[in-house]
Amino acid sequence: DVTAVFELPDEAATQRLGESLAPGLQPGMVIFLEGDLGAGKTTLSRALIRALGHAGPVKSPTYSLVEVYVISSLYLYHFDFYRFESPEEFLDAGFDEYFNDASVCLVEWPERAQGSLPPADLRLRLYHAGVGRVLEAVANTPKGQECLSVLNR
Ligand code: ADP
Ligand code: MG
Repeated sequence: DVTAVFELPDEAATQRLGESLAPGLQPGMVIFLEGDLGAGKTTLSRALIRALGHAGPVKSPTYSLVEVYVISSLYLYHFDFYRFESPEEFLDAGFDEYFNDASVCLVEWPERAQGSLPPADLRLRLYHAGVGRVLEAVANTPKGQECLSVLNR
């Protein structure tokens, strides 16, 4: 696995990092976003979704569990499993069908669906660091590694 660490001193840095992930995305990718409440998972996702070309609002999926974006021919699903009480809720909701070759899935709180969720290509972990944040990125697949190498360019 390939790991990279990024310092994100302010919100703008989190947004820039989210934006810079956009060119490296490929259909079929699964990205986990881990970290405490307020770590910046939604902030990063929002910047990424906007950079892909979505002009409208990007809501946090905290209450809806999933928000769907159709950007050109790409389906992007933004999940938040914070409210799950058990990982079985993932399968009960039929969310496994959202994970396919034509979609990109961004998942906040993947640990709450552990065991039901497909594996991630890229895991992004956000930590509080003083007033800023640190991001640790772990690529688990060739697609994830490609995405990371685009980031480092
Ligand atoms: P999460 O989805 O992880 O719960 P949000 O993205 O909803 O977190 O909220 C993160 C909060 O932290 C927002 O208020 C945002 O402005 C702020 N924030 C995001 N990135 C940074 C950063 N690198 N440094 C300081 N504050 C940040
Ligand atoms: Mg969030």
